[in-house]
Amino acid sequence: MMKQKYIVIDVRWCHDCNNCFMGCKDEHVDNNWEGYTAAQPRHGHRWMNIERRERGKYSRNDVKFLPMPCQHCENAPCVAASKGAITRREDGIVMIDMVAAKGNKELVDSCPYGAIYWNDEADIAQKCTMCAHLLDSAEWAPKMPRCVHNCPTGSMSFYDCEPEEMAKLAAAEGLEAYKAELGTNPHVLYKNLFMFTKNFVAGGITVDGDCFENATVTLEQDGKVLQTAQTNFFGDFKFDGLEDGEYTVKVDAAGKAQSSNVTIAGKSLNLGFIAF
Ligand code: SF4
Ligand code: SF4
Repeated sequence: MMKQKYIVIDVRWCHDCNNCFMGCKDEHVDNNWEGYTAAQPRHGHRWMNIERRERGKYSRNDVKFLPMPCQHCENAPCVAASKGAITRREDGIVMIDMVAAKGNKELVDSCPYGAIYWNDEADIAQKCTMCAHLLDSAEWAPKMPRCVHNCPTGSMSFYDCEPEEMAKLAAAEGLEAYKAELGTNPHVLYKNLFMFTKNFVAGGITVDGDCFENATVTLEQDGKVLQTAQTNFFGDFKFDGLEDGEYTVKVDAAGKAQSSNVTIAGKSLNLGFIAF
């Protein structure tokens, strides 16, 4: 198989600066890349769509971001539904044929990620092309999509490699597909995806009214220790990456112990202060 193209995005470093989004606009608005895609409309389309999710409750809360272009799926539902109007190139990039797809608004609903947008004026469905027009051009020295090139935090990387190499990298770095349950096998992979998709339980420890540093806090489930933490200078602890379920938080502070049962059900928990 020829080398495949991939985008890897680290959720930890995305701060919603929108430089990727703006790079996509700059590359595609008013530019008709013949043989690739028609110009992107100025408004409405978010080929690089940054999803946002708030977790927890003040003051133990955070907001996480998931930059989400077309996932360039190996098992692409859009390709299956398109009767030949959407195809996968040999290098893994999924492309909408601007002639064959003309007038077919149903293509928008064929993507389970919501990555396909309708261009009313041009009467065509459009989406991220992984900037194939740049990757195919010898003149584009960075040899990566515009959004990746524009990312100032290093959250996004581009790979052109054998699938086996990517599989090794995925195993070593813990890369995952977004909505893996769809079975689409995407070529956009995420690091630290749990920060967006899963939840945390956090709290603080006080002893005699003061924040208590270096208390030992353990998170258990069914009698098994899952995570252990020491409270920080502010007496705070946080256990992240949790699935829905019942947990026990055990605290050992200044030789005294307390435990509380907590339930994670679709959202993160701020337990407030646990006082000794
Ligand atoms: S993310 Fe959507 S548009 Fe992109 S390849 Fe997958 S199904 Fe098709
Ligand atoms: S790869 Fe290109 S088309 Fe796709 S989101 Fe990034 S800038 Fe836009």
